[in-house]
Amino acid sequence: MFDILIRQADIVDGTGAPRRTGDVGISGGRIAALAPHLEGDARHIIEARGLVLAPGFIDIHCHSDIALLESPSADIKLFQGVTTEVLGNCGMSLAPLTPASRDQLAGNTLVSAVPWQGPVDWLSFGEYAERLESGGLSINVAGLVGHGTLRMAVMGMSGKAPDSSQMDRMQGLLSEALSQGACGLSSGLIYVPGCYADTAELARLAEAMRTAGGFYATHMRNEARYVLKAIEETLEIGRRAQVPVHISHLKVAGRANWHLADAVVEKIVSARRSGQDVTCDVYPYFCSSTTLLATLPPWCLEGGIPSLMARLEKPELRRRIIGQIQDGLPGWENMYQNAGWGKITIAAVGSRERRHMEGRTIAALAEEAGQDPFTFVLDLIAAEQGAVAIISESMNEAVMERFLTLPFARVGSDGDPGGSHPHPRLYGTFPRVIAHFVRDRGLLSLEEAVAKMTAMSADRLGLSDMGRIAEGLAADAVLFDPRTFRDRATYDDPCQYPVGLAAVIVNGRLTIDAGSHTGAAAGRLRRPGSTRAS
Ligand SMILES: [Zn+2]
Repeated sequence: MFDILIRQADIVDGTGAPRRTGDVGISGGRIAALAPHLEGDARHIIEARGLVLAPGFIDIHCHSDIALLESPSADIKLFQGVTTEVLGNCGMSLAPLTPASRDQLAGNTLVSAVPWQGPVDWLSFGEYAERLESGGLSINVAGLVGHGTLRMAVMGMSGKAPDSSQMDRMQGLLSEALSQGACGLSSGLIYVPGCYADTAELARLAEAMRTAGGFYATHMRNEARYVLKAIEETLEIGRRAQVPVHISHLKVAGRANWHLADAVVEKIVSARRSGQDVTCDVYPYFCSSTTLLATLPPWCLEGGIPSLMARLEKPELRRRIIGQIQDGLPGWENMYQNAGWGKITIAAVGSRERRHMEGRTIAALAEEAGQDPFTFVLDLIAAEQGAVAIISESMNEAVMERFLTLPFARVGSDGDPGGSHPHPRLYGTFPRVIAHFVRDRGLLSLEEAVAKMTAMSADRLGLSDMGRIAEGLAADAVLFDPRTFRDRATYDDPCQYPVGLAAVIVNGRLTIDAGSHTGAAAGRLRRPGSTRAS
């Protein structure tokens, strides 16, 4: 007797192998049987003729760390067929904390555009995972440890290099989190405090994973004019620490830099050819999204938000900041120059009285306010204490397609829940790959696309227990109509669920069925190195 029997689905198993029609039986949270025809009874039978059954999608690049505390039902991701979210990306995770960094975190706008308002009743990675699991979680999670989080725990918002005892403490916190189930280390080198770290600091820290296992994922120091130098730094960190490296949301930002795409591919491919383990993830859109704070020169944020607020009160410092945003600084990725204020849209603001700004460009809002856009931006950051997220049109579609179709590229949404006007990738990434890049453009086969969303990501994360439709593995699965599954989220109307989804199963529990969330809460922390059930 199976818990669930799925009959005559077109099985795309995650490995890239051609689809085949068959039955799948699920019992006790596992894929129990897989055959052209299965005999036997089941509590729940799904007739799936004409539908594709794939492993549940893995979103390898998420910023749902706070959202899952607030909305553990995870509808936004489940309705895309995602069954596992990878937290702690871009250098900021919610754990591990120290008592001092816990107090900073409460008002921290660096983890998410909208800060966490609830109690922070955890310190370690394990305690944070328990907090998520005990809160009625409907989706699985896996976690990276943010370099910025480690730095804040040990050094606050200092812009200095760590001394050897501070490095030991950061390594110790990372090792402890790895032993509690974290998959690796992430960095965000355009954000504070990550940008204060040099290559040596990151390589030393990543060394903690050499024997423990784990990989180094990075939002690189530059994704624009100096993107090649940033890739070199990433590769060097991997070589020095002797750990695998993973480039988050691979892109080339800024029209003047798009021509670097060939050299970007060449650099990564030649490192792979020489035997270095380097991978990447890509989201299927040509606008990016981040915090408005990322438009400021990094020195402004030294000491954290309170120090920034004090600086913004000084007219001479404001003039210096505006001058540096206009002209740039050597080595610093300038978000304003990548796009221009006319192509930067407000996605989310922290306070209610400025919600009307969401969905509008900075150029338009500044004009309406009768201000120059630079002053407008500094005033807005001051008024919102930094809690503003933006969408920036800075990329090229052909380059994005090229990166997405690289054989070592995984799919990650980079979605950040919050605000009324998020980037559409939050609601649309996974069905968009299938609708747009498989069906409409024919750039990937369905089997290739599914592999990028499942087994390839599981392999990168070291999660051998999932990501494939195979006997004995965790029963995470998505069932969709390959002719109609598509995203509906757009830049104008981003909070739209996809269509064409039939069912989603998480750990053997039917969680989305006939267009509704069943209320199942079977999600849990996925740890690397889990052994396969025999
Ligand atoms: Zn990032």
